[in-house]
Amino acid sequence: MSMNQSVLICDAVDPILNNILQKNGLRISYEPEITTDQINEKIGNFEIVIVRSRTKLTKEMINKANKCKIIARVGVGLDNIDVEAAQTKGIRVINAAEGAMNAVAELVLGLMLSLAREIPKADRELRNGKWLKKELIGTELSGKYLGIVGLGNIGKKLAKHARALNMNILGYDVIPIPEDFSREVSLIKTDLETLLSSADYVSFHVPFTESTHHLVNSERIAKMKKTAYIINTSRGEIIDEGALYAALKEGKIAGAALDVFEKEPATGNKLATLPNVICTPHIGAQTREAQALAANVIAEKIIMILRGVI
Ligand code: NAD
Repeated sequence: MSMNQSVLICDAVDPILNNILQKNGLRISYEPEITTDQINEKIGNFEIVIVRSRTKLTKEMINKANKCKIIARVGVGLDNIDVEAAQTKGIRVINAAEGAMNAVAELVLGLMLSLAREIPKADRELRNGKWLKKELIGTELSGKYLGIVGLGNIGKKLAKHARALNMNILGYDVIPIPEDFSREVSLIKTDLETLLSSADYVSFHVPFTESTHHLVNSERIAKMKKTAYIINTSRGEIIDEGALYAALKEGKIAGAALDVFEKEPATGNKLATLPNVICTPHIGAQTREAQALAANVIAEKIIMILRGVI
């Protein structure tokens, strides 16, 4: 394939992506605010279409993408792209799997520490003129059991970070977990039910698929310790939010930290009204480093595909 290809970039991406592609002779239409109707109108003119999270590339759009050879997601999850429709049309779908792993793993550390020490509440109440020194007795992460569900890129990175904080790591995945990694973090491999009943913190790092939809439901939450916390930075749909809300309200678990929600933007989500919940607006990959890394990875993958290297 020649380098003289036209590229539609549908979402705001790190400028490094434009720079690298332009330097290699590609023609860029940078339209970070493009609407669904406009995509439907124009998509047929482009060989390469790039999205981040805002744009949903539906079957209808993809069926109109008659010149398209590559669809790229500057991020990890591909759930905003109809991958099956793309593959049926012979379009390659690529992502930047490695880009966000450190950013998300670090956010999980921040969320665990925030839960353990009630940092958001301490800050909020001090601003309200309250000095809650006596009430704010927290716990420490050191020595606690962190259960990681899904030991892919992010789950593994989190395990390494959490080991550095002297946490014990329980791990569950549907595919075999590499032995050298298990040794490195002294991983205790377990089934999901044992992990849920033993961990002090349970953090989810699975993709959203039919089989992970509502992976966390009321029966599974019931297996957890009353003192345990749930952290979800993967996809909102893997938790039955109604079941989680009920469990938190009834004190069946101690709390939760959520970066992702069944419906986003999650303004107005009733989970955010609970005192034992910390919410962030899907910021897992929102670091300068992660955005630049993902943009670099995608630019390089596109160029390698055009050169016939991969
Ligand atoms: P990955 O593909 O590297 O790892 C996912 C792991 O989950 C794999 O090892 C897979 O075998 C395992 N898995 C699949 N189904 C499972 C199940 N039912 N039970 C247990 N394990 C299962 O993915 P990753 O890069 O580590 O990303 C993990 C998740 O994080 C994805 O959902 C991704 O969309 C999400 N993510 C969120 C943000 C954010 O901004 N919050 C940023 C990046 C990624």
